[in-house]
Amino acid sequence: MTTFENADNKEIDKFDRVSQIWWDPKGEMGTLHTINPLRTNFITEKLSVSQPKILDVGCGGGILSEALAKAGAQVTGTDLSEASLEAARHHAKQGGLEIEYLYERVEDLAEKRAGTYDAVTCMEMLEHVPEPNKIIAACVKALKPGGHIFFSTINRTPKAFLFAIVGGEYILRLLPRGTHSYSKLIRPSELKDWSAQNGLTYARIASLMYNPFNGTFKVAMGKEDVNYMMHFTKSK
Ligand code: SAH
Repeated sequence: MTTFENADNKEIDKFDRVSQIWWDPKGEMGTLHTINPLRTNFITEKLSVSQPKILDVGCGGGILSEALAKAGAQVTGTDLSEASLEAARHHAKQGGLEIEYLYERVEDLAEKRAGTYDAVTCMEMLEHVPEPNKIIAACVKALKPGGHIFFSTINRTPKAFLFAIVGGEYILRLLPRGTHSYSKLIRPSELKDWSAQNGLTYARIASLMYNPFNGTFKVAMGKEDVNYMMHFTKSK
């Protein structure tokens, strides 16, 4: 297995092992399919450029990349799980979608393509990385001046531990067991601080609220909870 700097091999290995289940909406990645329309809307509703160039960092099997491409974006997805990228490429081809999938560190890609993208998305990934700050710096570098950036992750609170890890992974089985470790979860204040350190301007926050009675999620704007999404902009 290739070893990359600022990547946790055990984390990547987890995603290599589950790469076959990315596209099973009833499978272990089902939650990502359930929340996908909500998060896609959170992103696209703020993009005014037609056919925006979007970099989807930590794209996994391409669940978000595909939704963005279907919404008219020109998408590049990157990940360090080769098996997941294979699943992503295969699925896009089957659906006739043109998406560029790269097996490359975003830190390296950002060097080559600095200032290229209208938007960068990095969803459910920062909590799997040793130094999230460096990923954020690379995302900012790849972004055009005035571009938009969207992160999502899981809060590090007792409630998040209970709902996302105990409830989500062990009781409701919304996620594969062992997907998350508590200490790596990220508080909104930390994400805001790292983003500010990298020159980003905070725009808004939303939370995905789970309803265990009917298995659906809804977006609560202006709220931070277990799962949350944050939107920032790069100065012009
Ligand atoms: N963003 C996708 C997948 C989230 S799962 C979605 O929300 O649908 C997290 C993904 O991050 C996995 O595919 C994993 O391989 C990837 N990942 C973890 N560490 C990474 C790193 N350092 N660089 C790039 N991708 C990474």
